[in-house]
Amino acid sequence: MLKFENINVSYGSVQILWDVNFEIDDGEIITIIGPNGAGKTTIAKTLMGLLKPTSGIIEFDGKQIHQAPTHQIVKDGIALVPEGRDLFPRMTIMENLQMGAYTSSEKEDTLKWVFDLFPRLEERQNQSAGTMSGGEQQMLAIARGLMSRPKLLILDEPSLGLSPILVNKVFEIVKTLKSQGVTVLLVEQNIHHALEVSNRGYVLETGRITLEGASSELLDNKHVKEAYLGM
Ligand code: ATP
Repeated sequence: MLKFENINVSYGSVQILWDVNFEIDDGEIITIIGPNGAGKTTIAKTLMGLLKPTSGIIEFDGKQIHQAPTHQIVKDGIALVPEGRDLFPRMTIMENLQMGAYTSSEKEDTLKWVFDLFPRLEERQNQSAGTMSGGEQQMLAIARGLMSRPKLLILDEPSLGLSPILVNKVFEIVKTLKSQGVTVLLVEQNIHHALEVSNRGYVLETGRITLEGASSELLDNKHVKEAYLGM
């Protein structure tokens, strides 16, 4: 479904991603793990066309997208739930969801699907987003991402700042999405959880992929255990 090939990205003269390669197959959950500042969010922004690579190719569904504008990439079927959520706090839940649906021609069906996944959002649809709890806001951010009916959903640090119960809920949602055929790219520092729900993972360190493999292998890998799992 997606190929990220030899991608280099810089902020001005500072290079952040160095020949990064990874692939995502249809229906997979893929995790990119790595320490603060490794470049994980930079990958997410580059996928969405918010940053342009200095070299390399991004192919999605057989089409090159690395020079495409973001609105076209959303139409092609990729959505990002950004780190920090970026909700519109004074707008209602319903209005936030509608902002996510601007490309979709099947808004009513999509809204029903999203409310089935997140019944609490339906109950509270007229409440302003800024008054909801952190966990509810994260659910809304995911729901808004789904409103464009993406084939590939990118979740950037979805568990950040959430209590353990809500973290479990977020990862349950990821599993449900997979069972419904949505492909998910998970960018996470909650490595244990992320590797448990994903099929494969990549370790990104100072802008380079240093390890890749089946998630079960990475969970068992000595470097991952020592550097990321505190074992
Ligand atoms: P975190 O988990 O802390 O979000 P990350 O792996 O997502 O980390 P990025 O946010 O992609 O890392 O940042 C990678 C590097 O790029 C960091 O060194 C960061 O300081 C730098 N960087 C990020 N945004 C900018 C920017 N707008 N201008 C210059 N440098 C930036």
